[in-house]
Order: sequence, then C-alpha cells, then structure tokens
Amino acid sequence: MSGSNSNHNPHNLPTKPCVECGRAITWRKKWQRDWDSVKFCSEACRKRSKSRETGRK
Ligand SMILES: [Zn+2]
Repeated sequence: MSGSNSNHNPHNLPTKPCVECGRAITWRKKWQRDWDSVKFCSEACRKRSKSRETGRK
C-alpha cells in the first residue's frame, strides 16, 4: 500500500492522450471494440483536427 502507482486512475481503466489537445482519454465501454481507433477526447477535438487536415491529401 505504498503510493508507488503513478496512475491517476480510480477505476484502473486504460488511458491515452488526445492527439489534438493532449488530455488523457479514459477508456469507455462504448469504445471497447475500437479503443485503438479512438484518438480524440471529444467531438470538438475531432472536428478541430479534421478541419486542419481539410485540403490535404
Ligand atoms: Zn482533445
């Protein structure tokens, strides 16, 4: 019971940083099938990233 766990995660769920703003995204059940493809913490970040990419490719 020493605080050697540096994870700020009350439920022990996986997290990863949002590719747009860098905030931690916490795993959600609705993402259980495509957690790998989750890249944004919110719709706002998804749109921001998309609008930045628009016109390329
Ligand atoms: Zn974000």
